[in-house]
Amino acid sequence: MERTAIIFLGPPGAGKGTQAARLSQELGFKKLSTGDILRDHVARMTPLGQVAKPIMERGDLVPDDLILALIKEELSDRVVFDGFPRTLAQAEALDRLLEETGTRLLGVVLVEVPEEELLRRLLRRAGLEGRSDDNEETIRRRLEVYRTQTAPLVEYYEKRGVLKRIDGTGTPEEVYARIKGALGV
Ligand code: ADP
Repeated sequence: MERTAIIFLGPPGAGKGTQAARLSQELGFKKLSTGDILRDHVARMTPLGQVAKPIMERGDLVPDDLILALIKEELSDRVVFDGFPRTLAQAEALDRLLEETGTRLLGVVLVEVPEEELLRRLLRRAGLEGRSDDNEETIRRRLEVYRTQTAPLVEYYEKRGVLKRIDGTGTPEEVYARIKGALGV
């Protein structure tokens, strides 16, 4: 069977995690969420968790080499990436990895939501779930990190002709239908 991958890209609060979970389940792909894996390491206080904890609490990015080691460990034949890649260096390393493993990229789903709506959603989630990086100061930092370090990937994938821009507003069902339509799955 052909090895395939889908990438979810977008700012914090865009709903990538929810949509990636649903799509991976329906297609029978493994969902590989670097944020979830890191939170699990933090909860277990592994060596990686101890390094990652203060970085995540500030809203900064965990170093690329640590993230890449994680990805190599968790890679699977059919995978949906959620929250990875987040820097140009990660995207280039992923390109090499996909090439080496003969994996075809089915598409990069960019979930777009206006910034005021992102802030509203993240602050609401902060109240509901109590994630330690969901306070207003860290949220603003994560949005800034997205703009400066991750947003350049939009052009990177657009140039390769694999980017699918999705309107992330509306109900989760509406957004999901747009994603399936754009990917043709
Ligand atoms: P969100 O999309 O809401 O920011 P995530 O769960 O994707 O949440 O990520 C939470 C935090 O985990 C990030 O702010 C960052 O510190 C760290 N992280 C997750 N994925 C990566 C990655 N690919 N590279 C570097 N750091 C990451």
